[in-house]
Amino acid sequence: MCKVDKNENIIDIRSLSFQYGTRSVLENINLQVKKGSFLGLVGPNGSGKSTLLKCILGLLQPTKGKITLFDQPINRFNHWEKIGFVSQKANSFNSGFPASVFEVVSMGLFRKVGLFRFLTRQHKEKVKKVIELVGMTEYTKQNIGELSGGQQQRVFIARALVSDPELLILDEPTVGVDIRSANNFYAMLSDLNKKGITLLLVTHDVTAMTEHVNAVACLNKQLHFHGNTRDFHDNHGLSAFHGQEVHLLTHNHPGGE
Ligand code: ADP
Repeated sequence: MCKVDKNENIIDIRSLSFQYGTRSVLENINLQVKKGSFLGLVGPNGSGKSTLLKCILGLLQPTKGKITLFDQPINRFNHWEKIGFVSQKANSFNSGFPASVFEVVSMGLFRKVGLFRFLTRQHKEKVKKVIELVGMTEYTKQNIGELSGGQQQRVFIARALVSDPELLILDEPTVGVDIRSANNFYAMLSDLNKKGITLLLVTHDVTAMTEHVNAVACLNKQLHFHGNTRDFHDNHGLSAFHGQEVHLLTHNHPGGE
């Protein structure tokens, strides 16, 4: 079993570099995500966010450096059920998809219980509870394809949460979602974070997100900033995001994580 202390890093990335062939995409990344934090990882398109995520999820092997997850080197990590993942691609059900919200969320239990016709009463209660947690109870029986993009994303969060992950990673979850819905969505994530779930939110959209996260990391091949949202708004991080020259890289971030 992996044990996690309050101050323990759930993700610990040290001196990570990555190249596609001879092309360098990530250079000397050092990034820690502490238990209980809500970190927004931002960067322009092409800045290496997805590549870094793929390294964290074990899908790509870094050219240099190391990643530790829940205190275990990634190559020996065998508790992937502790990590929930929601991608922007999840938001792609068309109106013909024949599954209710309840069924889609139940699919999140496949890894634990196999086919959902074998769900016990406790499993069904758990599914209802996470649907409630994301504010979708009134849509429980509705076809997923009939929901808006923002509502669908809530359902996919519930699907990721139903197996009780300790860390939820979200890749561009608000693509195609209007600003008001995105704001409500981030507020919901903030509530989940207050309930104890550690969140890593990856996005190129800094506008609404920074009001809700408690720390921001700016990536553009290198990590140009890592600190709390106040420092981020004091222009250091914003200029990093826009790719301008930056002199601040805060690894001790008071009031942040
Ligand atoms: P982001 O997620 O921030 O948009 P990516 O990690 O997708 O950035 O891409 C970073 C850089 O790596 C981009 O220049 C992209 O073109 C390049 N890249 C991404 N995937 C591949 C790949 N499979 N092969 C070669 N280059 C890639």
